[in-house]
Amino acid sequence: MHPHLWYPYTQAKTAPSPLKVKSAQGIWLELEDGRRVMDCISSWWVNLHGHAHPQIAAAIYQQAKTLEQVIFAGLTHDPAEQLAEQLLQYLPSGLNRVFYSDNGSTAVEVALKMAYQYWVNKGVNLGVNPGANLGANLAEQRGTFIAFAGAYHGDTFGTMAVGARSLFSQVFSDLLFQVECVPFPATYLGDPAVQSQEDAVLELLETKLEQMPYAGILIEPLVQGAGGMRMCRPEFLQRLRQIANQFNTLLIFDEVMTGFGRTGDWFACVKANVQPDIICLSKGITGGFLPLAVTICTETIYQAFYSDDPLKTLYHGHSYTANPLGCAAGLASLKLMQENESRFKGMETKHWQHLAALATHPKLENLRVTGTIAAMDIVTDAETSYLNPVGPQLRQQALDRGVLLRPLGNVLYLMPPYCITDDELTQVYETIAAILKTL
Ligand SMILES: *Cc1c(COP(=O)(O)O)cnc(C)c1O
Repeated sequence: MHPHLWYPYTQAKTAPSPLKVKSAQGIWLELEDGRRVMDCISSWWVNLHGHAHPQIAAAIYQQAKTLEQVIFAGLTHDPAEQLAEQLLQYLPSGLNRVFYSDNGSTAVEVALKMAYQYWVNKGVNLGVNPGANLGANLAEQRGTFIAFAGAYHGDTFGTMAVGARSLFSQVFSDLLFQVECVPFPATYLGDPAVQSQEDAVLELLETKLEQMPYAGILIEPLVQGAGGMRMCRPEFLQRLRQIANQFNTLLIFDEVMTGFGRTGDWFACVKANVQPDIICLSKGITGGFLPLAVTICTETIYQAFYSDDPLKTLYHGHSYTANPLGCAAGLASLKLMQENESRFKGMETKHWQHLAALATHPKLENLRVTGTIAAMDIVTDAETSYLNPVGPQLRQQALDRGVLLRPLGNVLYLMPPYCITDDELTQVYETIAAILKTL
């Protein structure tokens, strides 16, 4: 460990020393000690086209020579305008206003503020604390969000509050605002109970929505990421949309991880054919080069902020909002996605072909694939959790074989960049098979 660095998500006392990376090309990381390691987790799910892609590097270089950064209030620039316009072309047509920020947590944080203030601006009484809203009709209050068990939406206080109360947020739990939580109907290959589970969740939701109005429903569509690569069916999201309409509440998609091809289509909302009222995007937005995020909403929401009344303004922004370098990288990355569409659209079939050989493996259960993401649970004596000791063991075993994995406890998953070749994917699955023999 470096004597002056504090690494994220790392207990320095017990973690192995971090590996020093000298450079990276495509899917390969070049380590200082001369080893090459295949990045099968896209460097925490951000990298789309491989490392150091020359087209994105060139776009950033060109932009840096022209306009590297400028305040985005009172001033604007082409990269921000062009990226917004292009993003909207790939999203459902009702999503129409793009708000920039700089990471996934802030994208969700902005969505929460937008949704909450939307109801305030529309004159709906608010407040989770009725005392603060003297005379407010309790039934009219929309101060609470509905979120899903197992959700992860980021590490700021707002996003921790709407995330699952987990190991990550436990120490802060007293400081987190209240959220109504419903189960996530996670499913897998051969799941006999998927329909009844979805029915039960939706019934519970209806009961809650009948009792009082909510500010919105927040979900990671199709795949819950950090919660363990838990996957749900598109049908569930379609019914969720219907219920949100029926009870006049907002549907918010956190596509920070699922966006930009991850689910096998451009966005999970496109794949599921569901239009959310607000969508949050980050991770893959620059192809994995620079931090950038957007929160995109419908014109209806935007119009509730459009006013002569200064109080109706969305008072939110960050120093690096709409950084031109990030936007230039985003534009270059979208172009590469367009040129290589078949790569992310075709990966689901390839995952399933490889998984077929592992389907009856006694050490594996709950096999699942959505687009470029494949996941499975390792059967151990301990329960499925982030702290399951098999995680670090698998990670080390994979590393010894030249593959970078980062299991979430006993959940083993692959989320490679789209440039992975058929041979490389075969190599990864052979590595997994070899590791399973050692368990
Ligand atoms: C990673 C992630 C976030 C948080 O993004 P950061 O850039 O790490 O702040 C939020 N939501 C989802 C679904 C994520 O996967």
